[in-house]
Amino acid sequence: MRKKPHDLQWLETLSKRKQLNEEQRWALQRSQKGFLGERQMDKLVETFLPEITAIINDITLKYQSTVVQIDKILLVGTIVYIIDMKFYQGNYTFQNNSWQRNGKKLPTNILEQLRRAVRVIENIFKENQIDLKVKGVLAFLNPESNIYVEDTVPEKVLAFNELPLWLLELKKYSSDEHYLHWQSVLFQYQINGYRTKRQLTLEEEKHLQKGICCPHCHQFNTWQNKHTVHCECGYIETKEVAYVRTICEFGVIFHNRNLRLGKLKEFFGEQVEPEYLRYILKKHFVSVKHTPNRKLGHENKGIVFEYWFTDRLDYFNQLDKRKFWKRANI
Ligand SMILES: [Zn+2]
Repeated sequence: MRKKPHDLQWLETLSKRKQLNEEQRWALQRSQKGFLGERQMDKLVETFLPEITAIINDITLKYQSTVVQIDKILLVGTIVYIIDMKFYQGNYTFQNNSWQRNGKKLPTNILEQLRRAVRVIENIFKENQIDLKVKGVLAFLNPESNIYVEDTVPEKVLAFNELPLWLLELKKYSSDEHYLHWQSVLFQYQINGYRTKRQLTLEEEKHLQKGICCPHCHQFNTWQNKHTVHCECGYIETKEVAYVRTICEFGVIFHNRNLRLGKLKEFFGEQVEPEYLRYILKKHFVSVKHTPNRKLGHENKGIVFEYWFTDRLDYFNQLDKRKFWKRANI
């Protein structure tokens, strides 16, 4: 499953607890649209090429000192396609080795990121004796963009409306089972994706809404019972999930700090049950090694609940049954 970029996780989590400034609002909108575009592309590939299973979505690779982030990789026949997706709006022309947007020259070459990715993968394949061709694809996913490529470029540059035809074309070549290990080879070079560089200022931190945010209505009118957290909107959540989810929200916003009980208590606000919070931290989070005199808190992955606990979602879903214990007993 494709995951939201860290910057988007940060902005979305923060937007529930604070009014975003103008730059943050724009960034959030742009990032949300971009993510939707990528998901649409994933669906297109699933629809047109259901038989292709050799797909990697969103991977960051490090080869020697070069780090590249790649939106999508797929193997069709003997060609590995490296797909860079852009959600740009407007008219883009590539001419005389430079890009123009609505008639103005762009300071950077938007093909460069893709070219670096292609070079890295070619080198990795060479080093591991993988005999596959690598081809770069630049896909513009915004229907409100027009793309004109005047120069001859080795990459495939596609506008939104050209994607289905290109995928249909690929359908003619089927995957060769023999090459399946290319994915595990690439995973050997995988590193964690970029974290946002954004941080809260002290002033912003002061104005942060405290408490447990209802996942249904995104308001903070919640109260706690023994096993459940209730919201005015009628939504009921298992208390264990609500606490873990809220700790993760703290983790996202303060992604550069460890999880500390004191700060978490503040974040949960007046309704916090400190003993329960301590119990949940111990149960689900990894403590950072500390000396007898110095406690360093718990490890912070800095990502939202669904991604942090992907491996344990079954456990948390099964807890949901608790919501109805009381009712069933009546
Ligand atoms: Zn609610």
